[in-house]
Amino acid sequence: MTVIQRTPETRERKSNKMTANNNIKMAEDTRHIITDDKETIHEKDEPPGHEGAWGDWKWQLRNSIRSIKELSRIFSFTSEEIERLNKIVVKYPLTITPYYLSLIDRNNPRDPIRLQSVPAIDEDSLYFDVQDDPLGEEKDTALPGLVHRYPDRVLLTLTDMCPVYCRHCTRKREWCRGSWVRTKEDLQNIYAYIAQHKEVRDVILSGGDPFALSTAKIEDVLRNLRQIHHVEIIRIGTRCPVVLPQRINDELVSMLKRYRPLWVNTHFNHPNEITKESSRACDKILCAGIPVNNQSVLLKGINDDTETMIKLCQGLLKIGIRPYYMFQCDPVSGTGHFRTSVEKGLEIIKGMRGHTSGLAVPTFIVDGLNGQGKVPLQPNYIESVEKDYFVFRGYKGDLFKYYNPEEISGDRNSLQFKG
Ligand code: SF4
Repeated sequence: MTVIQRTPETRERKSNKMTANNNIKMAEDTRHIITDDKETIHEKDEPPGHEGAWGDWKWQLRNSIRSIKELSRIFSFTSEEIERLNKIVVKYPLTITPYYLSLIDRNNPRDPIRLQSVPAIDEDSLYFDVQDDPLGEEKDTALPGLVHRYPDRVLLTLTDMCPVYCRHCTRKREWCRGSWVRTKEDLQNIYAYIAQHKEVRDVILSGGDPFALSTAKIEDVLRNLRQIHHVEIIRIGTRCPVVLPQRINDELVSMLKRYRPLWVNTHFNHPNEITKESSRACDKILCAGIPVNNQSVLLKGINDDTETMIKLCQGLLKIGIRPYYMFQCDPVSGTGHFRTSVEKGLEIIKGMRGHTSGLAVPTFIVDGLNGQGKVPLQPNYIESVEKDYFVFRGYKGDLFKYYNPEEISGDRNSLQFKG
């Protein structure tokens, strides 16, 4: 049996999670390796049981589960399910780090981490409202790897690789293209484009997960962007703190620190993802002077209730992360089973506002189809607009009047709040 060096927290985990770890032995034989950055990722495997292997992000990647065969040694599937899942992963591959896998309660088929990472038969179900690229990113692609939709900001997709392929991913369409990393030529063209477009003051590094790349490669991108004087802000979208917290190591963080101001947006969806390891990873980033915001996605059966969302957002605040956005799940092919109604999102925000601190309440966002952009939604707190006052509905449901300052009271027919 493989002996894995675990953190005290990991040792405390329940026996079912220990069983999941035992299965890592099986995954070791597979050693699917993420491409590119050979000097850092294609390193020779450490022998199983190596001191500290669990805390080594490259070990986590090397030992990730990437096939239904490996998964079926951990979870029970019928032979029909195995057959169907094998077809699904041809289109939508899977990869799960040993760390993220160890958070799953194997005895719970509805475990929120399992639902986010283990392929499901539902990915093959037909939903007529879904598309491969509902947000029209390809339409707004100025150059390979660069989406320029909003006037002052651009999105740079560095790779399609992620330590875990989230089953609800908006860019699921990219997965079947194989693992790619933006070429040097593509990147040079992107830097030249941004340099020519002086209105671009905000660059978002995305993917895939930029932190799936080597530190040297990430630094190269940051260095080039920092040479463009009108780029004021660089944001990095990463799920590593959640699914591969070992990646947030001293080497990475001390490099990032040199390129501030940076902002990290991460992606916790459920309170079970807030562990000692993920908290430590976020703390490292925060201690480097880099703010961390969270962008969750509303997912049916995972976090689509007020209680879970409050627990998640309060938990995030406790580890210093600001709940920033709560996204409506986009109508992406292969994710229809995760989608909730817009009313559900509004109901959750209504159940949060006033019932917990405002800092814990994210902005509920629906991303418009075909590049229409983000639409922030709030429950309606305006009951009516009268000549001198508004009638508001408070968070407890009570109605009350609110008078404007006298000098600007008057005819508000131009306001469209009625109804
Ligand atoms: S980490 Fe982000 S980009 Fe990667 S699979 Fe998950 S949602 Fe998609």
